[in-house]
Formats: sequence, C-alpha cells, structure tokens
Amino acid sequence: MSDDRVVVALDVGGTGMKCALVRPDGVVVRTERHPTGAARGPAAVVGTILDVAGGLADKARADGLTPIAVGIAVPGVVDEARGVAVWSANVGFRDVPLRDLTVKRLGLPTALGHDVRVGGLAEARLGAGRGTGHVLFVAIGTGIAAAHVVDGTAAVGAHGAAGEIGHILVRPDGPRCGCGRPGCLEAVSSAAAIGRRYAELAGETPDAPVTAAEVAERAAAGEPLAGQVWQEAVEALADGLATGQALFDVATIVLGGGLAQAGDRLLTPLRAALHERMTFHREPQLVAAALGDEAGCLGAALLALDAVGVRDHQEKR
Ligand SMILES: [Zn+2]
Repeated sequence: MSDDRVVVALDVGGTGMKCALVRPDGVVVRTERHPTGAARGPAAVVGTILDVAGGLADKARADGLTPIAVGIAVPGVVDEARGVAVWSANVGFRDVPLRDLTVKRLGLPTALGHDVRVGGLAEARLGAGRGTGHVLFVAIGTGIAAAHVVDGTAAVGAHGAAGEIGHILVRPDGPRCGCGRPGCLEAVSSAAAIGRRYAELAGETPDAPVTAAEVAERAAAGEPLAGQVWQEAVEALADGLATGQALFDVATIVLGGGLAQAGDRLLTPLRAALHERMTFHREPQLVAAALGDEAGCLGAALLALDAVGVRDHQEKR
C-alpha cells in the first residue's frame, strides 16, 4: 500500500531542535537539526519553530509527500489540552499558545506535547517498552522526570505536570533540590547531583566538575569514593522507582537520559536494589532506552499522528 502521508515533528530543547518528517509507520524520511537560540528570547524561538516547521512541510510537498499534521515537543510545564507552553526555564516560554500559532501559520492540525512524556510515548510504542502495555519511562539527566504510558498513551495530569518523579522525597535530610525542598530524588540521583556529590566529598574545586559518567567509570575501576557516591545515587533511585512501581504497577521501566548511557554500571546494581525493595509488588523489567536522543522527535510525530486519528499499523502493543 502506498502512503504519501507524513507528519512534521519537532523536539525543541534548551540548546537544539531535532526535527523530522515521519511516516505513519514510524519511518523517518528526513531529519534536520537547528539551534534553538534560547538567548534570543521566547518570541524569536517561536519564530524559528514556525519557520522550521513550515520549511519541513514545504520540503515534504516538494518531494511529493503530503504533510497531514504537526507535532511539537517542548520542555517545562505544558498544557497539552490547550496546546500552550506554560512555562520553561530552558527556553523562556511563558504561556505561549504554540499550537494555535502553528495551526494559523501552517494550516495543519497540530499537537503540543511535553518532551519527556513524548519521549516515553516513543519508547513505549516503538522502543524499549514496545509490546509491554504499561511502561514507566524515566529520563535521568540534569534533572529526573518520568512518563507513565498505558496502552500507548502518556498520562498528562490535571495540570499538565504528571510524572515529576524527580521530586519524590527520598532523603529528608539530603541536599536541597532546585525546587527549593531538601531531599528530592533529583537532588541525589540526577547526573548533576552525582557530579556535585563526588566533588564535595573529594574536596575538588567546582570549576573542574566531575561528570556522573566519570564517577561511574571510577566506581567500576574500584575507586572507593566513586563507588560510595554511585551506590548512594543507585539506592535513592531505587527508592524512587519502588514508589513509582507501588503507584503504577508497570511491566517495564525504561531508563533514558544521559545517566542511562552508563548501561550495566547503572542497571545491574539498580536491579538488585529495586529487587530488595519489592515486597508483594511485582518486579518490573528494568531496561535502557532504545531510541537515544531521537525519542522526543519520534514521540512528537506519534502525538501528531494520534491527533489526526492515524495509528501506526505496524505498532505492536
Ligand atoms: Zn524537588
């Protein structure tokens, strides 16, 4: 069956935008990357988003394809129902009606989504959680956020803020979180927190920060301090995931973001720590994300396809 339909997908991050034309079966036919240029201010970023989306739609038509919808993923707080980018620390959005602006400019149905939620959507439907139905996708980088995906749909929450697993309280006497409260999971187990904790205990200067990946490497090489810091982070992460499992009873937890690139150095001790915490709850599979940094863009495409009622016929759920 020939199908010339594509959706325009954009994943807008703090530094760059990943953009693509994606067919209904999930095949990517064109990719582009553009700088976000967040320092120019939110109005200029919106202008770039509209230019890039319009340009991709034009290129699709020039190639004999038919753009049918647009999907845009943005960070921060996103009101998906109203299509509004409510707030973003990275990009500076404050109540930007991005969906309506895109519809007006391109004349195509448009869906707006949250970057981690659409990343989870992609991992659940096309990536590491494929075929397992109930998935918790946890992105661990500078911060920690999650998406709970059931049968191919990510829960948004009443206020567009579902999935803030990074702000589960795990260490009441722990370091202060960016949100202002001490002891959040994100303040202990994010990649940024691991680097800070190691530097603090090692008495290193903050202008030469150790990355979480280096801490993982040093821990694997047998350095006691790195081993301690890594294990602290793993234990706190297991506490957070055990809470997630008590709430959601998922089949699969997919770990994404920069920290997941530590692979088995993270997964092996984390599986053991999570196993210890399970009583009557069923233990989820714990796996690394499969789609890398393409997940957000693919998820934006899925959101666009969902918005026009086109569900990938090759998807197995
Ligand atoms: Zn917090």
